[in-house]
Amino acid sequence: MKKEGMAVATVNVTDDGAEKEYQELVNSINQHTQIKDLAKIREAFEFARRAHGDQRRKDGSLYITHPLAAAVIVAEMGIDEDSIIAAILHDCIEDTNVSYEDIAKRFGASVADIVDGVTKLTRVVYTSKEEEQMENLRKMLMAMARDIRVILIKMADRLHNMRTMAYQSESKQREKALETMEIYAPIAHRLGMQKIKWELEDLSLLYLDPVGYEEISQGLAEREKADDGFMERTEKAIKKRVQDAGIKGTVQSRTKHIYSIYRKMYGQNKQFSEILDLYAFRVIVDDIADCYNVLGCIHELYHPVPGRFKDYIGTPKPNMYQSLHTTVIGSEGIPFEVQIRTWEMHRTAEYGIAAHWKYKEGISGKSDEEKFAWIRNLLEAQQESDAQDFFSSLKVDMFSDEVFVFTPQGDVKSLPAGATPIDFAYSIHSAIGNRMTCAKVNGRIVPFSHVLQNGDVVEVITSNTSKGPSRDWLGMVKSSEARNKIRQWFKKERREENIVNGKAAFEAEMRRLGVPLSALTDERVLQVVLKRFSANTLDDLYASIGYGGLSAQKTVNRIRDELHTMERAAREKGELPSWSPSPTQAKAVHGIVVEGVDNVLVKFSHCCMPVPGDEIVGFITRGYGVSIHRTDCKNYMNSVSKEKDKERWIKVYWADDRDETYETGLAITAGDRNGLVMDIATVLNSLKVKVNAMTARQIGGIANVYITVQVKDRNELGTVIARLLSVQGVKEVRRQGT
Ligand code: MN
Repeated sequence: MKKEGMAVATVNVTDDGAEKEYQELVNSINQHTQIKDLAKIREAFEFARRAHGDQRRKDGSLYITHPLAAAVIVAEMGIDEDSIIAAILHDCIEDTNVSYEDIAKRFGASVADIVDGVTKLTRVVYTSKEEEQMENLRKMLMAMARDIRVILIKMADRLHNMRTMAYQSESKQREKALETMEIYAPIAHRLGMQKIKWELEDLSLLYLDPVGYEEISQGLAEREKADDGFMERTEKAIKKRVQDAGIKGTVQSRTKHIYSIYRKMYGQNKQFSEILDLYAFRVIVDDIADCYNVLGCIHELYHPVPGRFKDYIGTPKPNMYQSLHTTVIGSEGIPFEVQIRTWEMHRTAEYGIAAHWKYKEGISGKSDEEKFAWIRNLLEAQQESDAQDFFSSLKVDMFSDEVFVFTPQGDVKSLPAGATPIDFAYSIHSAIGNRMTCAKVNGRIVPFSHVLQNGDVVEVITSNTSKGPSRDWLGMVKSSEARNKIRQWFKKERREENIVNGKAAFEAEMRRLGVPLSALTDERVLQVVLKRFSANTLDDLYASIGYGGLSAQKTVNRIRDELHTMERAAREKGELPSWSPSPTQAKAVHGIVVEGVDNVLVKFSHCCMPVPGDEIVGFITRGYGVSIHRTDCKNYMNSVSKEKDKERWIKVYWADDRDETYETGLAITAGDRNGLVMDIATVLNSLKVKVNAMTARQIGGIANVYITVQVKDRNELGTVIARLLSVQGVKEVRRQGT
């Protein structure tokens, strides 16, 4: 085993219990798993032993005994070989000079990923003690773990650390105990790992309230003594009754765990002597039918306490727990609880999610994706349950809809996945967001659009001279909180600007939908509209549109509906309103009809210079009316595909009666020769076409001539192009803008 250079320093280290602990692991593996070939596990042991070398724990034992003990607990859960190997190696990256790559090379990427995951969880520092923070921390741990096996190993790690906490300082004991009680025990509970949860709770209580712990454990010992063999007698009686009924069952007895009694005493404000329900019995059978048969036996044998029967087989608990529960009064007047379950339910009750892991691993579990599919199904099935909050956080790593980050003070903030430092800043306070000038993630300056990752430490730098948020931020934020606060700012700080922008957007939309702006000059209409939007003045309405509180489109749609209603009402009374929300027969301007709009300012775009006969489309400019483009114009095709511009393109038509001519541009390519330009001018002159401009350039024997001409329509233009093409040397004549 001296393959690696690292071994040199540790050759002479004494065994100090490492082999003994390894033997424990072998026993646990043999008892709880299907793993037959232990070569890789032995290799992991040797590897970790060399890596940890002579490192010692507080109690003086070799450090390697700790990861081995954690691996024993993982093996008890009955999960896979990779998990056991990862448990043995779990402190290597953090505490030795072994790297991720070293582990990946030797034991595969899967093991290395799990160890890496455990290492990341180890590095999370818990500082805050508020309940809301605790829930976020639990969620963050789950989110960071990604692979459920990381959590299982972290549980085993924590459990062994709690078991061996006696040698730590008092402050360390309290700190770890609190963390365990607040973070790890609830996670164990939610994952259905009852056995580990109970032990974690009792060990935590031992350090958090040593006096309370002692009171209960002494009380239990005294009560058992006073009840003089009650547990044994009862266990025997149940066993006999079950056997007589011809049922194969195993009966177990125990006292309730200390923390559950503690909680009852403090929750219900009782003395220990007032807690009667201290004993619990368990009958484990082969199938579900026998569970109900045993229940019958118990109720014949003892008097059931009304209202205490619970059927968790028919209705499993959210964490998958299944059993029948009943409380009965024993022959000596002592009440006790009986749990009845099958062996499979028993495994689930003790090891929860880990039990299912093993179960599934046996039948399928090829890819990781498949392995996690069942967890996902489980979580989806639990959506309706009371544990929904927690499981939706378990979902985090499976579905990634939330991200958890730290403030520099160590508080955890939960943000939607994809959130940026802007979301973070506004989640603290709107004043922080509004004055943010710079953001740091893990100590490095990042752009505002930077997407935050789980576990990032985010810091926001503010300045009193900041000019406030930028409109671009609205496109970078993920949380509605941040979006609303940014809008709020614009609403307050930029009223004038909002009114101008809002008015332009509003009027463009009115024109686009053909709602006459003149309608709003009617005082009655105006009052109805303002009331509809809870605005005092039209400026208020424009301002709302300007800062994005109202969409121009929705506003105008509603106004149009309102106008229709008023118009109908007016007509029923025999009146004719001075306005009509219906598009009127529009009049042409410059030979152009803009759908639904009268007397609009029309101009022809310079990029493509359309002439009658061209297919055209109109663009609502900001304040310069409608500009007309050809539908094959590059600018149009570019712009119409953009979300923000799309709505500004409207239908326009050539009017039938036109008496104007239209300017358009032509690009002529020809072989350069003397007299070319003169010949072109002669052709145009012979056609009686008015030429507005002509420029010519010559590059490397090729002449490029640009002309703008006035024509009636496309037909006339066609004639011009044909004649130009007939000029000697002309190779091509193109319309401008194509
Ligand atoms: Mn550890």
